[in-house]
Formats: sequence, structure tokens, C-alpha cells
Amino acid sequence: MGIIVCQDCNSTVDYFEDEKVTVLYQKCECCEHKHNKNNQ
Ligand SMILES: [Zn+2]
Repeated sequence: MGIIVCQDCNSTVDYFEDEKVTVLYQKCECCEHKHNKNNQ
């Protein structure tokens, strides 16, 4: 099983089918949106 982990907040973003354990780092939607908000 593979998992996609957010590189910003370390939360699990998604799972995908894989023969071995694989971890990919991406940004979750939440952190993608944070990038555009400077005044919060
Ligand atoms: Zn995140």
C-alpha cells in the first residue's frame, strides 16, 4: 500500500494501490491554500 503524506503538516492526504509500502510527499489541499493567504 502506498500513502501520500503532506510535506507541510504531515497528515495523510491519500492512499493508493502498491505492492510495497511507498510514501510520497505532496501538499494537501489545506496547505496549498495556505500558500495564497498571507494575512491570516
Ligand atoms: Zn497539509
